[in-house]
Amino acid sequence: MVEEQIIGRDVKDTRVLDAMTSVPRHLFVPEEYTESAYIDRPLPIGERQTISQPYMVAKMTELLSAEPGMKILEIGTGSGYQSAILATMGLRVWSMERVESLARQARERLRSLSFNVSVIHGDGRNGYPREAPYDRIIVTAASSRVEPAWDRQLRPNGRLIVPLSVMTGGQRLLVRENLEPGFRNTWYDYCRFVPLLIGID
Ligand code: SAH
Repeated sequence: MVEEQIIGRDVKDTRVLDAMTSVPRHLFVPEEYTESAYIDRPLPIGERQTISQPYMVAKMTELLSAEPGMKILEIGTGSGYQSAILATMGLRVWSMERVESLARQARERLRSLSFNVSVIHGDGRNGYPREAPYDRIIVTAASSRVEPAWDRQLRPNGRLIVPLSVMTGGQRLLVRENLEPGFRNTWYDYCRFVPLLIGID
């Protein structure tokens, strides 16, 4: 998977590639999809949600340019796979999920595989002020805007990555840097994520 679908495209960061090689994606998908776990596709994980496509996980992780020890907030835990990649790279990870059953499953899965991740059941549009500020914030669901709470919870020189809905339909990856006093936006790949929803389930 890593050689053909990730290095074969444009992801070069060896720390990302090493993490993607070491985390067993098949343990993050429902049993009936085990066979498809290493195909470059999103897969259903229940509750009408998906585990993201491996290339997108790799691309977003590379764009974070995170260093070990940094504090990161993920919005949209889903299966917990992205969190596991970040934890493997030495980041301190807090991850928010609005669907309680998914949050619980991801928390149990990550714990049983010994990934050190704090999974929080809550609406990630508000971020997680209790642990703020963060060096990095990664949103893994499509948002129509950059939430003010994310900007507030980003440390100076911190970076946010979010698939933002664009006028033409679909989304585009936005990297937003907190350069104090202002923010700098840089646009990357077009992409397709499930929508960020309001409130909790
Ligand atoms: N990162 C995940 C894939 C995320 S799919 C993985 O590696 O498997 C997007 C997830 O975001 C879904 O699980 C969805 O329930 C969750 N989500 C949607 N809106 C949310 C919100 N407002 N707050 C937190 N999580 C949300």
